[in-house]
Formats: sequence, structure tokens, C-alpha cells
Amino acid sequence: MASHESLLPLRLITIIGSLNADITTYTSRIPSGGETLHARSVKTGAGGKGGNQAAACAKLSRTRNDVNNGSADIRMIGAVGNDQHGQLLLNNLRASGVDISGITIQTEIETGVAIILVEESTGENRILLNGGANYSLSPSLFVTIPNPKPSLLILQLEIPLQTTLQILKAAREAGIEILLNPAPAIELPAEAYANLRHLILNETEASILSGYSVEQIKNDSLLPIAARVFHSRGVHNVVITLGSQGVFYSQDAGLSGFVKAKKVEVVDTTAAGDTFVGAYALEAVKVDFDIDVAVRKANAAAAKTVGKRGAQVAIPWADEVGPI
Ligand code: ADP
Repeated sequence: MASHESLLPLRLITIIGSLNADITTYTSRIPSGGETLHARSVKTGAGGKGGNQAAACAKLSRTRNDVNNGSADIRMIGAVGNDQHGQLLLNNLRASGVDISGITIQTEIETGVAIILVEESTGENRILLNGGANYSLSPSLFVTIPNPKPSLLILQLEIPLQTTLQILKAAREAGIEILLNPAPAIELPAEAYANLRHLILNETEASILSGYSVEQIKNDSLLPIAARVFHSRGVHNVVITLGSQGVFYSQDAGLSGFVKAKKVEVVDTTAAGDTFVGAYALEAVKVDFDIDVAVRKANAAAAKTVGKRGAQVAIPWADEVGPI
């Protein structure tokens, strides 16, 4: 007989956001102005915070051999150009188990591209982003949230801000729970936070949006006070990620905690935050959501991503994540 769990309807998670081709060059050092330098290697991969978070939700709810049978339905809404980069992104998301029927292919504008220079001696990177088709997502497309209505909507800040604000308004009106990952951070109007179910941000974003310095955010005793700034604006669950240090979480009802990062060998931290968001989201749609469990699972999943080069390709499948 089927288990009780298998009789429950799948929860739909919709991600609206950016899709970028990451063109990463690896170099011994960053060239100076006017200088031409040979890169050691170059790789083109699927990226963009929206796409990464969709891939994370899908891969973390499936095993590689069971890509069509995840425990959640994951739908991506975004835009690419009618070009090779667009095809790469669509193919990659489909292979991860993401429903790509909400992705528009634009004929007049190219796919978003991130040109990344990684200096191998320091691991430091420099990124130039061309938004391309991501900027064709206009507010008028989101007067209402596209059907089917999700249990959870995930947003970042790599599409036009006015569009994100319109989506937040439409989702609120429809009573849809929202997870906002305000990256890259820009000042947001007060209404963006009102009745927001989940806010996940790193220390830099927390600093820009709370007004506390990064040093203050990293201070154990000030961290809960910085989180309170977001609760006072209307956020229910605040999660601040602190890279190799760990993760702080707090709920408006008063529960808070700190989870230490896993000790792992770091190869490339790209998409660590996006993996974290995806893993957390899979817990957030459960009826028995427990923020401590969600953060521990997300922390374990993100630790896997830092051990591999690249963005979506580095995100683990469900069976690759270690214990929490
Ligand atoms: P972002 O990638 O958005 O800048 P962070 O750097 O805070 O965000 O990383 C997000 C999460 O990824 C961390 O909270 C942690 O769980 C994991 N992580 C990041 N860097 C490391 C690391 N060096 N070792 C272990 N886990 C890490």
C-alpha cells in the first residue's frame, strides 16, 4: 500500500529570476589595464541566481537517476535569448528536473552573460554582468502571479527592481508565501518586507539592508539585533549566512539559533548561497516546517557546492548531501 506521504499532493515552488551563462576564465593573475594575458582555461556554464536556485530545488529533491520523480514540483519563470547560451541554460535546467515552460525565448535580445575572471593564486574573482534578456521581464507581465499558483515563490534581485516589487505585490494579494534572497543587495522600500515569510541573505547583504556594518553583523551579540531590524519591518523568518563561519536564524516569535558551517575543502564558493536557498525552500513548503532543520539541511547541501567548480553543475543531487 502507498505510504501516507506519497498520497500528499506535490508542493509547487516557483522561482522568478535571472538566467545567465557564466563564462569563467581561470588566470594566474588579473591582467592590468592595456595588458593581454593568456588564460589557463575557460569554461561556459549555466548560472544566474534564479536558475541556480531552481536547479538547487530540483536537484536536492531528486537523485541523479530519478530526475523525473522529485518530491516537489519546481518551476522557473524567466527569459533567455534565442542563442547558444539560452539553449545551454534551458537544457541544463531541464536535465536538473526543472519545469522550464515558464521561460520565454526572446528573439531581439541576447541571453544574460556573466564574464568571470578567477585569479587562481588568490581564488579572488572579478565579474562583469550583462543582464540581457533578464531585463525583458517587465512589471506588466506580473499583474498576477502566473498559474499554477505555487506554495512558495522564490525571488532574488537580478531582474529589474520594479518587476520584483510588482511580483511581491501580486504574490501578497494572492496569499502566496514568499522567500526573498535580496542579492545583489540594493535598498528596498519598506513594503518589500511586509508580511515576508522568509528572508535569506549573506553578511554583506545584511549589512547594506540593515545599516549595521559587516563587523557588527559578525559579532555574536549584535547579530540578533541586526535580524530584529528585518523582523520589525514584517519578516517572519530571517536567515543570515556567514560563509565559512556558519548561519544565524531567527523567527519573529523569538526562536533563534546558530549553526556552524561544515569543515570542508573549498574549491569554489559560487552558488553556495543559491544551494542554501534551494535546500531551505524544500523544507519551507513542508507542513511541519522547522527552521532549525531547514538551516541544518541547507548548510549541509551548500557545503557540498563549495567543494566543486562552477554554479549549477556544482549543486549536489539529494543523495550526494552528507549528514546534517
Ligand atoms: P553567498 O554564497 O550568498 O555569498 P555565503 O558565502 O554566506 O553566501 O554561503 C552560503 C552558505 O554556504 C553558508 O552559510 C554555508 O552553509 C555554505 N558555505 C559557504 N562557504 C563555506 C565554506 N567555506 N565552508 C563550508 N560551508 C560554506
